[in-house]
Amino acid sequence: MRLGEFELIRRYFDVEPPQNAATALGIGDDCALLDIPPGQQLAVTTDAMVETVHFYPHTDPALLGHKLLAVNLSDLAAMGAQPCAVTLSLTLPHADPDWLAAFAGGFLQLARRHQVDLIGGDTTRGPLCLSAQALGLIPAGQALRRGGARPGDMIYLSGDIGDAGLGLKILQGRAFNDPEALERLHRPTPRVELGLQLRGIASSCIDISDGLAADLGHILSMSNVGARLEWDKLPLSAAVSAYILETGDWTLPLTAGDDYELCFTAPPEKQRQIPPGCACIGEIQSQPGLRLRRFGREHPYSGNSGYAHF
Ligand code: ADP
Ligand code: MG
Repeated sequence: MRLGEFELIRRYFDVEPPQNAATALGIGDDCALLDIPPGQQLAVTTDAMVETVHFYPHTDPALLGHKLLAVNLSDLAAMGAQPCAVTLSLTLPHADPDWLAAFAGGFLQLARRHQVDLIGGDTTRGPLCLSAQALGLIPAGQALRRGGARPGDMIYLSGDIGDAGLGLKILQGRAFNDPEALERLHRPTPRVELGLQLRGIASSCIDISDGLAADLGHILSMSNVGARLEWDKLPLSAAVSAYILETGDWTLPLTAGDDYELCFTAPPEKQRQIPPGCACIGEIQSQPGLRLRRFGREHPYSGNSGYAHF
C-alpha cells in the first residue's frame, strides 16, 4: 500500500495531543503556536543528521530517532533551557512503514520523557536527511552562555567522555566490542536536568559534541581566556581506560565527539553548589590557549581539535 504524505504524518507523527503547557497549537496548520510566559526567553536550536556523514546506512531507525532528538535537547541543556517543543524535517528516499514506525518510536519516546511536544515539521523525498529544531524556555538573562568563563573559575565535566568515540572505533573494527560504549554512541542522554540545575551556578557551559578540546576551546575563545586541563582527572569509563592502556592513544577523551556530556565553568565560591557526579578537570586562566597537565607535567595542547565538517 502506498503511504501518502499526509497519511504518513497522521499515522506516525501526529499521534498524541500536546502535553506541554507552552503549546497553544500543534501539528496541522501552517504554523504551530507557542505561548511564551512573561519574563521567559525562547531558546532555539537545530541539528541535522545525514546518512554516511553522521551515521552508517542501515542504522536502526529507532536509534536515529532517539539520537536526532537527543542532540537537539543536549544543545538546550547546555544553555540551561527547559525543553518544550520540537519540529522535525524529514527527507526520505521512500516511505517505508517499518522504518517510519521505528524512527518515530525512538523520537517520541524521548520526547515524552521530557514532555516535549512534536509541533510540526516538513516531509520531503530525497537522500536520507534527518533534521530537528528544538525550542526551550529560560528565565530572561539566565542562559548559560559560552562567553562567561573568567580566570580562576574551575572547569567541570558532567560524566565520562570518550565512550562514544570508542563506540565508533568498535563499529569501524578498530577496538574490542563493548556494549556500553556502543550504547553511548547510539543512545546519548541529554543532560537536561543538569542544565537546569546549573542556572545561577555555571559561568559558562557547552555540550561535548565535537570533542572536549574543541568544545572547551569554544568557551575559551568566546570568553577570551585560556585553561589548564588535568588529564589525570578526566572521568573515564573502564572500557576507555582499557583502550588507552592497550593502544597508548591518550588523546581519545580529548578529541572524540558525540558524548553529549556538559562541560561548564563556575567560580570557586560556587564549588559547594556543584551537583554531585560532576568532575573538576581544570581551571580557567588569563593566559590564552589550552595547557594540559598529564602525570605531573604541563604541555601546551594543540593536537587534533575535534571534528569539523569544512
Ligand atoms: P505546509 O505545506 O503548510 O508547509 P505541510 O503539508 O508540509 O504543511 O505539513 C502539514 C502539517 O504537518 C504542518 O502542520 C506541518 O508542520 C506538519 N508536519 C509535516 N511533516 C511533519 C513531520 N515530519 N513531523 C511532524 N509534523 C510534520
Ligand atoms: Mg511544509
